[in-house]
Amino acid sequence: MQGDIDQVLINRHAIARRIHMLAGAIIDDLPPTDHGPAPLTIVPILTGSVIFLADLIRQLPVHMQIHLVSVTSYPGTATTSQGAAIRQGLTDLPDSLAGEHVLVVDDILDSGNTLRLVTAELTDRRPASLRTCVLLRKQRPEAMSFNVDYVAFDIPDQFVVGYGLDYDDYYRNLPDIVTLRPSVIGHEHSDQPTPSP
Ligand code: 5GP
Ligand code: MG
Repeated sequence: MQGDIDQVLINRHAIARRIHMLAGAIIDDLPPTDHGPAPLTIVPILTGSVIFLADLIRQLPVHMQIHLVSVTSYPGTATTSQGAAIRQGLTDLPDSLAGEHVLVVDDILDSGNTLRLVTAELTDRRPASLRTCVLLRKQRPEAMSFNVDYVAFDIPDQFVVGYGLDYDDYYRNLPDIVTLRPSVIGHEHSDQPTPSP
């Protein structure tokens, strides 16, 4: 698996430092109550956000609930968006989010289709506030012009994996955010990626 890496774009230490800062900003933006910041409802978009989610929420010392949403846009070996769709069976959004302060968490903002779809679903449920947070934003016009509240890192318009992001469902467990060697992308896995020892 390590041999498939082309470049490390963002290493695990930089990610951890940035998440700590981001969490501070998220807390600061929550309305105050008599008992500290208002409770938070986190809506992570599966599957790419799971590692980011795990690290982020442990830096958020507030009452929180988590409601998962599953969206598919890069099926299989596709490296460009094929159009976003919510996978109903894997989604556990309540019918109403009235009074709740909702934070959507996604791995990467690319075309914006995924966040557009999910924020529309959530707006229908009438939350008290709705904010969006992404680990990565690609430096392409569709992403840079999309209104998102928290961005951990802006990256070049390249296909990346690791820290939750996949290629054909592999590489999510890489601790750093990396690009893959061109020979790996777009080819059959003649040598299936295997966990390193
Ligand atoms: P959008 O809907 O904004 O085009 O894309 C968002 C989704 O596409 C992300 O949540 C992610 O699952 C997938 N995606 C976009 N760019 C990349 C990328 O560079 N690498 C990987 N692994 N997935 C990506
Ligand atoms: Mg995704």
